[in-house]
Amino acid sequence: MGGAPAGVSSPPAVIDARCLSYAYDDGTEALREVSLSIGKGERVAIVGPNGAGKSTLLHILAGLKPSSCGTLRLFGEPFSKKNERALRARLGMLFQDPDDQIFMPRVWDDVAFGPINRGLDEKEVGRRVRKALEAAGLSGYDERVPHHLSYGEKKRVAFAGVLAMEPQILLLDEPTANLDPRNRRDLLNMVETLNKRGTTVVTATHDMSAIADIADRVYVLDRTIVRQGTVRQIFMDPELLESKNLEIPEITRLFRLLRYFGYDPKNLPLSVDQAVAELTKTMREGDGHVHLHLHRHVHDGTDDKKLEPDGKGHGHEHPV
Ligand code: ADP
Repeated sequence: MGGAPAGVSSPPAVIDARCLSYAYDDGTEALREVSLSIGKGERVAIVGPNGAGKSTLLHILAGLKPSSCGTLRLFGEPFSKKNERALRARLGMLFQDPDDQIFMPRVWDDVAFGPINRGLDEKEVGRRVRKALEAAGLSGYDERVPHHLSYGEKKRVAFAGVLAMEPQILLLDEPTANLDPRNRRDLLNMVETLNKRGTTVVTATHDMSAIADIADRVYVLDRTIVRQGTVRQIFMDPELLESKNLEIPEITRLFRLLRYFGYDPKNLPLSVDQAVAELTKTMREGDGHVHLHLHRHVHDGTDDKKLEPDGKGHGHEHPV
């Protein structure tokens, strides 16, 4: 499974999971024979409905839970008792709930906890904490009590704690959940900056409107991997999305509907940024205009379920 499209050489796998399974003590089978491969510097999303096993899988990939069978290789090495500490040090995981991640009484101490625990000297700890707090937009928060902060601020503190460890792989568990638009945008930007510097980013989410901003490749999980592909390939499979209770972003739905009005962008936008780029391009080509045409019976074809898998509809036959 996995890797780059045919003809493009794949980056070396930094996560290679074969046949991972996990059952909780009460017998709940959370994961069954999950296999995936993620290359260095890739941006990959693991999507699936609630209860699909996304969190459990991230915990296993981070070495925080053992798989009951199969193998996990990180950075090319099989994960084992002997090397778990060294391998775990190269990974950072942002938990869904920041309260599960923050436990020190001051922001500075919380962000410094990991680097101190790793045995770094005082100067290096100071450098890393300052840099992480600044990157997370938390300069001036050193003495604040995490417990008193807003949810968005707590998420930033947790993220700064992960940044201070300078991980090569970033595992994000529902990173955008419960964030207001500004915190959400800032978090996505921080992740993008890290990825541009070479950090591999794996995001578990059911926030389909964030996926195009945070991933290039997607695994659809429902206890086991049911499909993998590019973001575009996954968005163009309405049956799969419906069966897994996932929805394409509103903006993509809008542009699919615009095809019934004669506006047929070459690349269906998968995010607001892509939509702005597409409209700007169309306006430039159209002398400052976007032309839409009304057709009779347009409404007959505008139900999403009637759209063909390639996203094209059948509503153009009866121009008014
Ligand atoms: P997701 O992150 O996709 O929502 P999870 O990994 O949290 O899925 O959960 C997968 C399955 O495991 C669900 O059926 C959930 O109820 C179950 N589960 C999660 N944590 C526990 C636990 N501590 N004990 C028993 N079952 C659990």
